Amino acid sequence: MEFGQTVAQRDRYQTIRDAGEYDWQRLGELGVLGAAIPVEHGGQGLGALDTALVFEAAGYGCHDTGLIFAAGAHLFATALPIAEFGSDSQKKKLPALCDGTLIGANAMTEPDAGSDIGALKTTAVRKDDGYVLNGMKSFVSNGPIADVYVTYAVTDPNAGHLGTTGFVVDTGTPGLVRSEPFGKLGMNGCAAGTVEFRDCVVPDDAVLGNGSLVFQHGMLWERACLFAIYLGVQDRLIERCIRHVKRRKQFGKRLSTFQSVSNRIVDMKLRLESARLLLYKACWAIDQDDVAVLPAALSKLAVSQAAVQTALDAVELFGGRGYQTDEGIEEHLRDAVGGLLFSGTSDIQRQLAALELGL
Ligand SMILES: Cc1cc2nc3c(=O)[nH]c(=O)nc-3n(C[C@H](O)[C@H](O)[C@H](O)COP(=O)(O)OP(=O)(O)OC[C@H]3O[C@@H](n4cnc5c(N)ncnc54)[C@H](O)[C@@H]3O)c2cc1C
Repeated sequence: MEFGQTVAQRDRYQTIRDAGEYDWQRLGELGVLGAAIPVEHGGQGLGALDTALVFEAAGYGCHDTGLIFAAGAHLFATALPIAEFGSDSQKKKLPALCDGTLIGANAMTEPDAGSDIGALKTTAVRKDDGYVLNGMKSFVSNGPIADVYVTYAVTDPNAGHLGTTGFVVDTGTPGLVRSEPFGKLGMNGCAAGTVEFRDCVVPDDAVLGNGSLVFQHGMLWERACLFAIYLGVQDRLIERCIRHVKRRKQFGKRLSTFQSVSNRIVDMKLRLESARLLLYKACWAIDQDDVAVLPAALSKLAVSQAAVQTALDAVELFGGRGYQTDEGIEEHLRDAVGGLLFSGTSDIQRQLAALELGL
């Protein structure tokens, strides 16, 4: 068992963490957008654990957590499924997805199909040498700005969730109608909206593969690697809290000298380090081609819940300042709440874990 990082892992982490300025193009240059994509398609060719370290570094270095989340949705639920399941012509999009020329989005959730992805109503009906897509996707991260969508539709209504197919659809395809960004609690650096398919005709070559297989593959990587963003964010937040309590005085003493304050920070650290171990183990299992459903579900639960509790603790440690928007503390709480929902809610992670335990 080895807990240390290699020189290459440490160097990559430091380069991304200390990049200073971050925008979409810069994330492409830094190798974040294509971290897990094979080198021959323009990516970095990293495994799950190394990819998680990339996102952890970006989560620490970039204060716009929504931007890094947008990069995660782009990589794990759009570019990676194309790299894994795509045809040769679909894979031609990968270099531009890796360098940031193209933005990807994943359109699965519908008004009546959120946790229950077996209830999709979007249909893809065979016609000539292609399919006609009809349906509404209700929550698409990067949706208002994406160039490429990976989406899912029912092709065999009698086969339940196995009767869905994944498609790659380009912006500009007639019948693909996307909304303006809608307002949301956090992750404001990531524009999200609806995407509707109205008699949207796509060619045979838009087919990515069996919807269930394609989606579960992307979700496994998201649950493990994407949540590393929150490890980096928590590292940064805990360091900031330590600086604050060592500086601020009340009752003539530094806050850090009050045991309930220092205990709170120790508990923040304990939650973070426990969650980190689970996340690294889940990524390691993916890299071993091991069954990673249980470790990824446990990791997603632990990291997302730690992120919310640590952000709440930070607000309390900063007091009234923690509640004020200009201090930059409360936004961590707003950014963390989404983690309880996307990539499968906490209830769904518990359900997956229970099934894996034979319950
Ligand atoms: C920040 C953010 C980004 C997102 N990005 C995307 C994206 O890019 N693409 C995309 O397709 N979707 C995206 N989503 C949507 C997300 O995947 C769904 O919100 C999520 O799957 C839950 O579905 P729902 O909102 O319909 O809630 P529902 O499924 O209606 O769930 C509501 C509540 O009921 C509980 N529940 C439901 N079923 C069960 C059950 N069987 N057992 C126990 N409890 C249950 C849930 O846990 C939850 O607490 C995003 C969501 C957020 C918040």
